[in-house]
Amino acid sequence: MRELLRLLRLVRPFAGQVAAATALGVATVACGIGLMGTAAFLIAAAALQPSIAELQVAIVGVRFFGIGRGIFRYLERLASHRLTLHLLGRLRVWFYEALEPLAPARTLSMRSADLLTRAVADVESLQELYIRVLAPPLVAVAVGAGTGFFIGAFHLSLAVVFLCLFTVAGIGIPAGIHVLGTRIGNRLTRTRADLAATIVDGIQGMADLLACGQGASQRHRVEELSLRLVRDRERASRVEALGTAAMTFATHASVWIVLVIAIPMVRAGFFDGVGLAVLCLVAMAAFEAVQPLPAAARHLSEQLAAGRRVFAILDARPAVEDPARPATVSGDISPPAVKVRGLEFTYPGSEEPALAGLELELPAGCRLAIVGPSGAGKSTLAHLLLRFWDPTAGEILLADRPLSDYRLDDLRRIVGVLSQHIDLFTGTVRDNLLLASPAADAAALEEAAGRAELLSTIHALPEGWDTWIGERGLELSGGQRQRLAIARVLLRDPALLVLDEPTTGLDPVTETRLMRTLRQLMEGRTTILITHRLVAMEAMDQILVLDRGRVVERGNHGQLLKLDGLYRQLYEAQQLTLS
Ligand code: ADP
Ligand code: MG
Repeated sequence: MRELLRLLRLVRPFAGQVAAATALGVATVACGIGLMGTAAFLIAAAALQPSIAELQVAIVGVRFFGIGRGIFRYLERLASHRLTLHLLGRLRVWFYEALEPLAPARTLSMRSADLLTRAVADVESLQELYIRVLAPPLVAVAVGAGTGFFIGAFHLSLAVVFLCLFTVAGIGIPAGIHVLGTRIGNRLTRTRADLAATIVDGIQGMADLLACGQGASQRHRVEELSLRLVRDRERASRVEALGTAAMTFATHASVWIVLVIAIPMVRAGFFDGVGLAVLCLVAMAAFEAVQPLPAAARHLSEQLAAGRRVFAILDARPAVEDPARPATVSGDISPPAVKVRGLEFTYPGSEEPALAGLELELPAGCRLAIVGPSGAGKSTLAHLLLRFWDPTAGEILLADRPLSDYRLDDLRRIVGVLSQHIDLFTGTVRDNLLLASPAADAAALEEAAGRAELLSTIHALPEGWDTWIGERGLELSGGQRQRLAIARVLLRDPALLVLDEPTTGLDPVTETRLMRTLRQLMEGRTTILITHRLVAMEAMDQILVLDRGRVVERGNHGQLLKLDGLYRQLYEAQQLTLS
C-alpha cells in the first residue's frame, strides 16, 4: 500500500494531464453508452413506425456519438501517451539522479546487469502506471456514477441494482485477479531481471566463458530462464484471460438481471418498451468501463514489484554526501598540501581494516610514493582521497581543510586520478577526451594529446580524432589507453595528482617511456604515486612503505635501501625479475 501511494505521488506533478486524459477517457465511454442508448431507441422506436420527425433527434444522436467516440478515443490515446512519455522521462531522470551519488561505494555490491534491468525494464514498466493502473478505475467511477443517474431516471431500484452489479464487477473481479496475480507478477518481474542479468553477464564475460568451455552451460542457463519467462508470461496471461472471461460473464449476466427486474416495471407502466431497450443497452455499454480493471489489477502487482526495485535504489543512502556549508573553491587552485591523521578504514562488511593508523604529511607541490605488496591498502588510500568512502576514524586534510568540507564535484576537480583501470567509452577519440572537459576546444585537445605524447598515435589512426575506439576502447593498446587517460588528466588540470599503479600491465619499455611522460605531468602539482613496482623512485621526495594497512617504513629511496627492510626486499625481488 505504501508503495502504491508513493507510486501515485510520482504522477502528482502531472495532475493536470492526468485529469485531461481521464476526462477524455470518460467522454469516450460516455459516447459508447450514448451510441448504444440512442441506437436502441432508434431501432425500438422505428419498429413502431412513427413519423420520421420523431426520430430526427435520435438519428442526429447516433451520428454524434458514433463520430464523437472515434474522436475522443483518438484524443484520449494522444493525451495518455504524452503523459506516459513525460512520466517515463521524469522517472529516468529521478533514477539516474538517485543512482549517481551511490557510485561507487554502494554500486560496487550491485550487479551492473541488475542495475540495468532496474533502470530500463522496471522504470519502463512503471511508465504504464497511468495508462494501465491509474486511469481505468477513475474512468470506471465516473462512468458508473453517470450511468447510475441515468438509470435512476427510469426507476430508483433499477439504479441500485445496476450500481451493485457494476461494483461487484468493478471491484470483486479485479480484487480476485489481484490475489491470483500477485505471486505471478512478482515472479515475472524477478525472472525478467534474472534473464537480463544473465544475458548481460554472459555478453560481458563472453571471452572468459568461452575460454573456460562454459559457453554451452551459459546458453543452457539463458534457455532455461527464457523458458521460465515464457511459462510465467503464460500463467500471467491465463489469469488475465480469466479476468476477461469473468468480466464478459458479469456484463451479460447483469443485462439479464436488469431485464428480469425491468420487464415487470414495463408491465406496471413505469416506462415503455422502447425505454426497456435503451435501459438494457446502456447498462451493457457502461460495463465497457470496468473491462480493463482485471488487467489493471494484474498489472498493479507487477508495477508494485517494479516500484519496490526502483525505490530500493532511490532510497539507498549514498556513502558520502555533500557538506551543508561547502568550502568555496576558486577557479585556479594551487597545489594543496595533504595531511593524514590517524587514518583508519575498514570496508563495509569486512572485518580486517584496510588501513590503520596512517599518518602522513605531504607539503604542497611535493611528490610522495606509496609502495607495498598488493593488498596493502594503497588503492584504498586513493579511494579515500577521492571520498568514495569516508574514513572509519581519523581524517584527511586537503589544503588544511577536512575533505568533507569540499563539495564532491570540487573535490573531484582538485584531485585527478590515473589508475590502471581506465574506462574508455564507445565513441571517438575526441569524445573520450572531451569527457574530461566538455568545453575544451580543438587547440586544447591538441595540446593535451601532445603533452601526453598521443598525437602521433592519433594521427596514425585511420580517421584521426574521429576514429571510433570501440566498446570500452578495446581497440587501443594498453600504452595508448594510458596516454589517452593522461591527456584526460591534463585537460582537467588537477592540483593534486594521484597515480594508482599507472603502469601496471605494460611492458618495461613502454613503462619507462610512460614514466617519463608522467614525470612531466607531476610538474607543478602535489603528487601521490601508488605502485608496487619500484620504478623512478629516485624522483620522489618521500616514500611510504605500506604493508597490510600499516606504514612499515618511510624515507627516500636512498634511506630506505639502507634500512634493509621490506622496501629493500621489494626492490631486490624486482631487480631479479628484470635481470
Ligand atoms: P592495494 O591497492 O594495495 O593492492 P587495496 O587498497 O585495493 O590494496 O586493498 C586493501 C584491502 O582491502 C585488501 O585486503 C582488499 O581485499 C580489501 N578491499 C579492497 N577493496 C574492497 C572493497 N570494495 N570491499 C571490501 N574489501 C576491499
Ligand atoms: Mg591497488
